[in-house]
Amino acid sequence: MREALVDLSAISRNVETLRAVVDDVATLVVVKANAYGHGAVPCAGAALAAGADWLGVVDIDEALELRAAGITAPILVWMHAPGADLAAAAEARVDVGVNSTEQLDEAAGVGGVTVQLKVDTGLGRNGAPAHDWERYFAVAASHERAGRIIVRGLWSHLANAGDAADSAQVMAFSEAIAGARSAGLDPEFLHLAATGGALRTPAARFGMVRIGIGAYGLSPFDGPSPVALSPAMQLSASIIGVKRVPAGTGVSYGHDYVTEQDTTLALVPLGYADGIPRHASGRGPVSIGGARFRIAGRVAMDQFVVDVGDAHVVAGDRAILFGDPQNGVPSATEWATAADTINYEIVTRIGNRVVRRYVS
Ligand SMILES: *Cc1c(COP(=O)(O)O)cnc(C)c1O
Repeated sequence: MREALVDLSAISRNVETLRAVVDDVATLVVVKANAYGHGAVPCAGAALAAGADWLGVVDIDEALELRAAGITAPILVWMHAPGADLAAAAEARVDVGVNSTEQLDEAAGVGGVTVQLKVDTGLGRNGAPAHDWERYFAVAASHERAGRIIVRGLWSHLANAGDAADSAQVMAFSEAIAGARSAGLDPEFLHLAATGGALRTPAARFGMVRIGIGAYGLSPFDGPSPVALSPAMQLSASIIGVKRVPAGTGVSYGHDYVTEQDTTLALVPLGYADGIPRHASGRGPVSIGGARFRIAGRVAMDQFVVDVGDAHVVAGDRAILFGDPQNGVPSATEWATAADTINYEIVTRIGNRVVRRYVS
């Protein structure tokens, strides 16, 4: 009834396109959060088939899920609470992003952990702050010399706060690299840029880029991507009811929408429990039978209504919320605009009741 159709060949194509843009720089494809809602294991396979060198996730459990599915590619995982199961990561040959001397000590205490040192170059989130780098690198070097950890990478993340801020972060990252080297470290993988930086800031590419949203065919920018990408997910549902109503009929909670004339209402079984933003009430675009409509009234937990006027629509017809605009359907980015958010949030929040189906 509810379906997110994921085109794995689109993901492979997008990864190939982005690899060509960054040339001989390594690519890590980010499959966190169930591959932005697209399904972690199949998307990881599509990315690797297209030549991705690494996979990236947030939680150790996400990495273990990939390993359990037989994926042997290098994986980096980067958010951990104190006491996280670093031993399981080491056992599964998963690199652990660390953010502080405390996490370094924890990793050293476990033994056998390969780490990638994260530094904060200006995002103000995770990673060791600049005033702490000297101590952080010294502790990392001493643990490495003692054979308690292996330091395989040094990395950071851009704030996307404009060209000047990006340049400042590139400079700060270069300083971090120099600092790590003078502490006696020789991290093999140096990486700063996500999709946005990989596309727009060549100086931020260093030795590897971390590609998330671009792999799924969506632009990280306010505007379109400078290279053509194919949106991989098409979200649709079968219309479960259609009825003719007179003018003056109130539609959905609060009657925010009232019909202006005799018309046909179509009921679509997708609601905010499925990740359809309630904020897009009255605005979200929907394609039915090749024609475009808007949601009438409020999005409810499980459903919304479309006023299709006099169009010939019957129960069982498919309502397509978003997909590849090349196919004449709305894009996830249009939904983001309708809901005053970003395309990342639109695809990532698609819920578990929506069946993922794969084509390749
Ligand atoms: C999610 C994430 C990415 C991917 O970002 P996109 O903008 O989706 O390419 C890269 N790096 C880190 C640390 C992330 O958390």
